[in-house]
Amino acid sequence: MSANSTPEILIVGGGVVGLSLAYELAVHGSNVQLIDRASVGREASWAGAGILPPVNRATAIDPLDRLRALSHQLHREWAVRLREETGVDNGYRECGGLYLARSAGEVASLHAFAEMLRDLEIEIERLTPSEVAELEPALSDVAASQLKAVYSLPGEAQLRNPDHLKALRLACERRGVDIVADREATGFELSNSRLAAVQTTTGPLHADQYCITSGAWTQRLLMQVGISTGIMPIRGQMVMFKCEVPPFRRILNEGPRYLVPRDDGRVLVGSTEEEAGFDKSTTPEGVGELVALARQLVPELRDAPIENSWAGLRPGSFDSFPYIGRLSGIDNAFAGAGHYRSGLHMSPGTAVVLRQLMFGEEPEIDLTPFRVGRG
Ligand SMILES: Cc1cc2nc3c(=O)[nH]c(=O)nc-3n(C[C@H](O)[C@H](O)[C@H](O)COP(=O)(O)OP(=O)(O)OC[C@H]3O[C@@H](n4cnc5c(N)ncnc54)[C@H](O)[C@@H]3O)c2cc1C
Repeated sequence: MSANSTPEILIVGGGVVGLSLAYELAVHGSNVQLIDRASVGREASWAGAGILPPVNRATAIDPLDRLRALSHQLHREWAVRLREETGVDNGYRECGGLYLARSAGEVASLHAFAEMLRDLEIEIERLTPSEVAELEPALSDVAASQLKAVYSLPGEAQLRNPDHLKALRLACERRGVDIVADREATGFELSNSRLAAVQTTTGPLHADQYCITSGAWTQRLLMQVGISTGIMPIRGQMVMFKCEVPPFRRILNEGPRYLVPRDDGRVLVGSTEEEAGFDKSTTPEGVGELVALARQLVPELRDAPIENSWAGLRPGSFDSFPYIGRLSGIDNAFAGAGHYRSGLHMSPGTAVVLRQLMFGEEPEIDLTPFRVGRG
């Protein structure tokens, strides 16, 4: 796109949702501009762990499950396509996951979770301590002494967030998407029931259609056109260990916490859930809790150096559903935000259904539960 031409579509916010939408639109021939108030792909989407829990498309009936299932399938396809188009391996691996319970409360929740997955015909298997030790020798001690229940989910996958974002950005650029950093949307210019421009720190931007994908900051922006979403920032802290070789192969989950092994020996440990406004600091308590969990479960990590720690702001929503759809009362403006703990996972499906809606097609998933402006 030439620097002066008006794009057909302007996307506000370059996290994984905005970049995935830009990619999907560009693949289908649209002329797209994407702006971000800072650098693209440096907020929640960068901070996350990249866990992609398994879904069975055949048994996914409700819209949220269908969105996860569509996305799960697309991740597999997009990983290949993005590598072919950009040469970047986004770290998509079907590594499997183990779900662990040490307390009676965790055991009860885990059995209920396993039952739910069986109902959805998602492969899940209960393991004995010796089976755990055989699969993951690093867990031998804790399996024998502390774990009261362990389930294996072979279909769990992961991708490496910074690499996925890099691949998406490169693929967008190669398809002509105009990506503009350091340009913040500050307001909207309405004309009857249409958006005429997005006001930004350096002047207005015009397009035929607009989509707001500004993550945890979406509520602030949409309030300016009188739309309330209930999207709020939920801070998640992470810690990264560096080992010589990966000490285990599968993602380890215990309640809402997890340890994710990367191919190069790094281990991510996450994550807290805190209401701290837009403050992205880590805290000694948050980091300390994650380090303690990691070292309890995997004794090898007692000697491994901590390479880094950080925090990101998940776009939480009051009912745990994302907001995907047209802005009520504005014909040519849309939003995709509020995916909370699953935004990486649900990003390609979100991009596809938004593209279908923006092209005037019937989205392949019923978007009623995701209506923008509910709540
Ligand atoms: C610690 C942690 C662990 C996580 N783990 C996982 C996981 O394992 N699996 C999973 O699926 N999800 C995970 N998530 C959730 C996932 O990361 C988010 O749901 C997802 O990244 C949200 O993407 P987004 O594009 O909506 O938001 P963001 O990545 O936050 O992007 C929004 C972008 O909009 C820009 N922006 C904001 N306001 C404006 C404005 N006014 N003008 C222009 N630009 C603006 C921001 O600068 C930002 O770049 C995790 C999140 C965290 C924090």
